[in-house]
Amino acid sequence: MKDIRNLTREELKEVCTSRGVPAFHAQQIFEWLYRKRVNDFSLMPNVPLKFREYLKTDFFISEVAVLQKEISSDGTAKFLLGLQDGLAVESVLIPEKKRRTLCVSTQAGCKFGCKFCVSGLNGFKRNLSPAEICGQLLAVEKESGEKVTNIVFMGVGEPLDNFDNVMKASAIFMDNRGLEIGKRKIVLSTCGVVPGIERLAESGAGLRISISLHSADDRKRSQIMPVNKKWNTGQLMKALKKFYEKEQFAITFEYILISGFNSSEKDAEALSMYVKGVPHKLNIIPYNPSEHFKWKAPTGEELGDFVGVLKEKGVFYTLRRSRGSDISAACGQLQAKLK
Ligand code: SF4
Repeated sequence: MKDIRNLTREELKEVCTSRGVPAFHAQQIFEWLYRKRVNDFSLMPNVPLKFREYLKTDFFISEVAVLQKEISSDGTAKFLLGLQDGLAVESVLIPEKKRRTLCVSTQAGCKFGCKFCVSGLNGFKRNLSPAEICGQLLAVEKESGEKVTNIVFMGVGEPLDNFDNVMKASAIFMDNRGLEIGKRKIVLSTCGVVPGIERLAESGAGLRISISLHSADDRKRSQIMPVNKKWNTGQLMKALKKFYEKEQFAITFEYILISGFNSSEKDAEALSMYVKGVPHKLNIIPYNPSEHFKWKAPTGEELGDFVGVLKEKGVFYTLRRSRGSDISAACGQLQAKLK
C-alpha cells in the first residue's frame, strides 16, 4: 500500500491515466485531500466508484497526529506531532501580524550534530516523506484553526539532506488546487550542504534560502557546525553566488550570537566581509540558553559592540529575538523534554 499524500497532482494524473480514468479526476482527488481534507476515499463522490475501489486497494491516506502543544506568551505555538510508525517530529507556528509561518521538520532527528541544536542530540532516525512534511501543516491547521501563509523548512533535520522529498513537499504546498502557499513564501534553511544548494539552484524550484552561518571563521564554524569540515565557508559562498545568479533573490544569513564565542569585534568584521560576497539579508539572533549546552547569551554590551561594527562596515541587519523562549523554544526541545 502506498500513501496517496506522497503524490503531487501531476503524479496523481499519471495514476488516473494508467487506469484509463480521465486526468481531471486527479484534480478532484487533490482537492478532497487538501481543501476538504477528507481521509477516506468513500467520501469523494465525484470520483468514479470503480476507481475509488481501486484506490482503496493500492493506496492509503496518511494522517499526522498532534501529541502535544505548548503556547508561548508571544503567541508562538509548538506542536509535537506523531507519525504512523510511532516516531515524533515538531512544528512551530509563528504568528506575526497577518502572517502565519509554519516551521516544519524534514527528518526525524538529524545527522549534522550542530553544537547548539537539540535536534541532533539523539541522532538521525529517518527522512520524512512528502506526506509527513505536508501533513504537519494539515495537523497544525486542524488543531489551531489558523490558516498557514508561509512555510520555513527550518524544523528538525537538514532539508537538503532529504532533497527529493522536500522538493515534492514544496510542489504539494504550492499547488493552486490544494494548499496554495505562494512560491516566494517558502524558505529553505540549510546548515550549508553545498551540493544541495547547487542542486536547488539547478532545479529552478524558486524557493528562497537561508543559511545557518553562525561564524565566518572556518576554525570557529567547524567547532560548532561539523558540516563546515566538509564544505567550508569559501565553498559555501561559491555555491551561494551560483544560487543568486540563477534565482536572483537575496540570501538570508542567520547568525546566533553566543557570548564569548562568536561575539567579538573581530568576529563582526569577518562576518561583514563574508556577507558582502552576495546580495543578502542578515539576521542577528542573541543565543537563547538551553540546559543541553554550555553556551551563554551575549551581554547587552557584547551585542552593542558587535552590531556597532556591522553598522560601521555598512552592513544592514535585523536583530531577532528567539520566538517562544518561554516554551521549549528551539527545535528538538519539546521532543527532548518528552523523553
Ligand atoms: S541546526 Fe539543523 S542541521 Fe544543525 S543539527 Fe540542528 S537540525 Fe541539524
